[in-house]
Amino acid sequence: MLPSTDSAAMKGNSDTSVDVIFYDGIVSRPQQAVLSPQSSMQGQTHAMINTGTQQFCYAYQDMQLIGALGQIHPVIELPDEARIEFLQPQLPAWLNLRSKNINQRIWHLERSPLLIACSLVLMVVIIGVVVKFGVPYTAKQLAWHLPANTLNSIGDQAQEQIEQLTEKSQLPAARQQQIRQLYSRYVAGQQPATLVFRQGDNLGANALALPNNTIVMTDELVQLAQDDRELIGVLAHEHGHLTERHTMQQVLSALGMTVFITWITGDVTDLVSNAPYALLTLSYSREFERQADLYAMQTLSRQQIPVSYFARFLKRMEKDDADIELLSTHPATTARIQAVEAFARQQKLVEDKPQ
Ligand SMILES: [Zn+2]
Repeated sequence: MLPSTDSAAMKGNSDTSVDVIFYDGIVSRPQQAVLSPQSSMQGQTHAMINTGTQQFCYAYQDMQLIGALGQIHPVIELPDEARIEFLQPQLPAWLNLRSKNINQRIWHLERSPLLIACSLVLMVVIIGVVVKFGVPYTAKQLAWHLPANTLNSIGDQAQEQIEQLTEKSQLPAARQQQIRQLYSRYVAGQQPATLVFRQGDNLGANALALPNNTIVMTDELVQLAQDDRELIGVLAHEHGHLTERHTMQQVLSALGMTVFITWITGDVTDLVSNAPYALLTLSYSREFERQADLYAMQTLSRQQIPVSYFARFLKRMEKDDADIELLSTHPATTARIQAVEAFARQQKLVEDKPQ
């Protein structure tokens, strides 16, 4: 049995002592203890922990106050893994830890309902900004940093799925070869893509730029063209999507948070498994369409081919669009057609001038 004096010492001065939970850092078991001030000549610099069987003395400079969050009470971390947990939300007034004021203030802020509400609003705003600007930005960065084998793997899988949705091309081999020659002569430049023809079926008149540097073009699109110069315009548009890595950027944007996780961890596993599916439901943003159109118009212009051919094809495509249910990849909007027509008017070439 403890002598009464010890018991009184353990209780300490009821004005200053507080009951706490103490971990001595040696055994993980929590111990009930009393925390009390210990004055020195220089003023209040140390605190005492009394567990009833042991006493510990800690200098304030060795005590690290951890701000409480929500319902968790304040905690003081001590050297050698020891720790004090408070049983009430307030720290004793005498406990004059160096960082106490700042931490106490932060801790009070954390408990204010108004501030909690403000924090929530702020969080929603931040998430909104991240989704609106952060995802496209990260998608762009990532699209340009993904290794070629990842791009190829995603593109190959998407191509497989497109091939399942479509049929073998009915275009004669000679016609396919002719279009490939147009592509390599007028469009391809330094990085020619592989040109794949498929009978589109549900895809209708369509063309897709895949991240494995492949352009898939449907027979229906080829048949919709009334002049090969229209096809050159379409191929240049697709090539523009490829050189700007639009497909990958658009797919990555659609995947949202997966992009961030990939960016942070560098692990592309989720990306490679999800991207090909996202690609199949892809529709390019207006900005990407505008950029690809500009690329096409500049290519045609450089090759002295009237841009009006491309404008004409877009118009026909717009009429045809009603029939396409799947993969409305490059919506032929009025705005796009107007922009291409405006470019065509400025072009100083006579329309229908033979090549
Ligand atoms: Zn497009």
